[in-house]
Amino acid sequence: MTGVVTEAEIAEGLGSLGLDSTSSVLVHASLRSFGRVEGGPEAVCRALLGTCGTVMMVSGTWEQTGVPAPPGLVRPQNTYYNAASWAAFDEELENAVPFTPDLPVDPWLGRIAEVMRLGFAHERSTHPLFSFLAVGTHARQLIEAQRLEWPLGPIDALAELGGHVLLLGVGHTSNTTIHLAEQRLGRSRFYRYAKVAPQAWAELPNVSGASHTFDEIEPELRPVTAEVRIGDCRARLIAVEDVLSCATRLIVADPAALLCEDRDCRCGAALEQRLAVLRG
Ligand SMILES: [Zn+2]
Repeated sequence: MTGVVTEAEIAEGLGSLGLDSTSSVLVHASLRSFGRVEGGPEAVCRALLGTCGTVMMVSGTWEQTGVPAPPGLVRPQNTYYNAASWAAFDEELENAVPFTPDLPVDPWLGRIAEVMRLGFAHERSTHPLFSFLAVGTHARQLIEAQRLEWPLGPIDALAELGGHVLLLGVGHTSNTTIHLAEQRLGRSRFYRYAKVAPQAWAELPNVSGASHTFDEIEPELRPVTAEVRIGDCRARLIAVEDVLSCATRLIVADPAALLCEDRDCRCGAALEQRLAVLRG
């Protein structure tokens, strides 16, 4: 089953999904999902950039820039942890680093985004926790759409461009666009905290929450999903607008759609946020 996948085969697979130089895509990718890639993550990046006009990825730095909530700062329905004392908070703040454009992408977001950052001329937004990077025709326009108070702005801009979500060997649990649909409906809007300078921290609104049950959207999206195998990688392409409209429809019909039932999970807090909107 597992063979070696080449850059040409990846490009061919992307082309068979309908992608071309007019396409703008938000890519969520697992390098391992391909099996072995000849040329490694650089080859995946070259195939993406050689096929699509604009490639965007999440390039968050949460593990390096994030800090706990300070002692006593408890927002309602926020599901976050506080430092046990100011001494503990100051120690966490000391250990964190402020965002700079040359910070590596957090490893849990995948190796491909980090290789894109290292090896290719890109634009990168500057959100302290949740930056995006983009390469190609519309890169600057997408990246400039991020605001400190609205981190998923680049996905709004991608939707306006008629862009697509490309899932390479990952599920909808990685599909950040579903969070945008939630946030537009007042759900999954959390406050989180980051170091922004030596001894200085900030509270950042509208940071999205849990996604661990997002694969429940799969059957609903199947009619509008293009799918192909590239080596062992299951590659799926869906228009951003289709993801947004489908997730919106599900959440409007059921405030608890795509959330788990654990009241202590961030899902429970997200549900409460939506219910508060419905109560007006
Ligand atoms: Zn949950």
